[in-house]
Amino acid sequence: MDYYSLYTLLLEAYGLQGWWPLTGRAGSGAYNEKGYHPGVYHLPESGNEQFEIALGAVLTQNCSWHNVRICLERLSAAGLVNGEIIAQMDETELADYIRSSGYYKQKSRKLRILSRFLVEGSWLQGCAGNKPSRAELLNLWGIGEESADSILLYAYGVPCPVVDASARRILARFVDEPSLSDETIRRGMEFAALKGEAEGTPPVSFLNEFHALLVKHGKAVCTKRNPRCPECCLLSCCAYDKQKV
Ligand code: SF4
Repeated sequence: MDYYSLYTLLLEAYGLQGWWPLTGRAGSGAYNEKGYHPGVYHLPESGNEQFEIALGAVLTQNCSWHNVRICLERLSAAGLVNGEIIAQMDETELADYIRSSGYYKQKSRKLRILSRFLVEGSWLQGCAGNKPSRAELLNLWGIGEESADSILLYAYGVPCPVVDASARRILARFVDEPSLSDETIRRGMEFAALKGEAEGTPPVSFLNEFHALLVKHGKAVCTKRNPRCPECCLLSCCAYDKQKV
């Protein structure tokens, strides 16, 4: 079974996920109370919304979204979801706002570096503005592939796959290939996105949902320890040795 078929099974099981959540829009229009927007692939209109996504992509490194949301709400309440402000802010002061995300001193530094880059490059002009390149983002201290790809996909509408821990775990188990490389996963996702496009789903929407669905499945069923195979929507086609469960 290919990634496109896997995607359709996950979509049938969980429905549209509505990523990336924006706290500033929570409860308004198509956005639910947590800022998700299922079925609406609304790219950020303003630089501050792009910046909120970039903030979230760094804060979520080794951290649950629940704790990231606490940080984002604190920053938002203080009027700090703004690249120009964070770029100038004292690192210790910023660290205090993001304690709940863990590794907050490191993350404060990462956010200052990222903010300066985004402001100095005039990259916070809304989705119709210019986009930084993947190589430029990866060149910044503290920005790895998952963070860079999340920023490009969700803040800038660049159709790039996001390979995270859930994707690695589920897709490696799915083909019973523990050493599946990120590059193989990325290529498989890109190929699936082309198939999705032929079926009428734009690549950005497809890759958005695929990433979100894999995260959902990784939390709900294909967990790090003790995956719940008997109740999995992929059970009949997954190659994972169920004797291990
Ligand atoms: S059958 Fe088990 S190992 Fe395979 S995807 Fe489902 S939960 Fe994960």
